[in-house]
Amino acid sequence: MGPPQAGHWSLPVRLHGAKPGAMKTIEDLDVRGRRVLVRVDFNVPLHNGQITDDGRIRASLPTLAALADRGARLIVCSHLGRPGDQRDLRYSLAPVAVRLSQLLGREVKFAADTVGPEAESAIASLLPGDTVLLENLRFNPGETAKDDAARAAFATQLARLADLYVGDGFAAMHRRHASVFEVPARLPHAAGYLVQAEVQALGRLTARAERPYVLVLGGAKVRDKLGVISNLLSTVDTVVVGGAMAFPFLAALGHPIGHSPADPDDVNTARHYLLDAAAARTEIVLPVDLVVAPEATANVPHRIVARDVPHGQLALDIGPESVKLFEASLAGARTIFWNGPMGVFEVEAFAAGTREIARAIAASDAYTVVGGGDTAAAIRGLGFTDDQFGHVSTGGGASLECLEGRVLPGLAALGRD
Ligand code: ADP
Ligand code: MG
Repeated sequence: MGPPQAGHWSLPVRLHGAKPGAMKTIEDLDVRGRRVLVRVDFNVPLHNGQITDDGRIRASLPTLAALADRGARLIVCSHLGRPGDQRDLRYSLAPVAVRLSQLLGREVKFAADTVGPEAESAIASLLPGDTVLLENLRFNPGETAKDDAARAAFATQLARLADLYVGDGFAAMHRRHASVFEVPARLPHAAGYLVQAEVQALGRLTARAERPYVLVLGGAKVRDKLGVISNLLSTVDTVVVGGAMAFPFLAALGHPIGHSPADPDDVNTARHYLLDAAAARTEIVLPVDLVVAPEATANVPHRIVARDVPHGQLALDIGPESVKLFEASLAGARTIFWNGPMGVFEVEAFAAGTREIARAIAASDAYTVVGGGDTAAAIRGLGFTDDQFGHVSTGGGASLECLEGRVLPGLAALGRD
């Protein structure tokens, strides 16, 4: 992914709620010698403190390298996981600083605090072209606070660290968080290359999607995702649902789902969606068989059952008949958007569904977009490469909300003067 051709670029107003061309790019900023706060999304999957997929770090390298080359003093900030508003070192960005340094081929300092003296002294020592990564934004309650004043106070602290702001954390732009939404209101700002590339690729799915258009949903963030797909259900032709996303739908149809979690509210939402989709003549395709086991670990006995999950068991992947059914739904599609793994792909015994659906999507002639941190990690981990897909989006929830036609707070903030 390189810099886009034009300095300004336009997209459907529906997508981000700002005037076309209103978003400035980093070429519009005079960054030499200035302190530039770059909000990225380095929320990478970690296993025992090791980064298992660095795709989100790589995705912001063009922006960071361009700013450093132009002599900016780079202050990079991100969240990582959900540490619960407190300093929880399992969610430290320290390992990310090491990887970023390797990938950028430059030294990256790490500030063990996001704001305050530690951050200030690290920033004060930056020479033009130098980079510091600040500690996890979500160690500070103000970052995600529901209370506007608390968010504003933290945003003011962050904004004081820098002269300019660049938004490149596309995957977090559906969040009205301090670093995403409030800080750009306090500093001259621009969109980074990743954000531009994402908006362009996703714009192709909103305005000009060729039909048939198939949406493939999976993963575990059921509540977040159910909340943002209501319009999509009627704009696409088919919705294929696997992973834990399938549970509320199966439960709504009266199937026992074993120990697999499905909140009653989610089941209710799913029930409404099934009715809405029927009215809109959108087909919702659910698994017809499931791989079940007592727990999601390697070497547990697992077996394939039909839709009914036996008591005390977890459904951890879609079964082979579901794979065939989903492949049939994908055949002939002209546009495919996939978010969410079909099963617990991190454990080989439950990876087959995700692998087969990835294979089918990679082989499709459709314009294919794969979104979501874990989904992107899954395709890479299962041996696929990004160039087998039309676009691999860093955004999961953010991409879904974009496709819904919602105004992403982070994009709206970058679109304002
Ligand atoms: P993304 O990051 O791509 O948007 P999510 O964060 O929603 O996706 O979900 C990814 C997680 O979903 C993976 O860690 C995977 O193990 C989990 N998952 C998929 N299917 C199931 C299932 N049937 N039961 C439990 N977890 C599941
Ligand atoms: Mg995820």
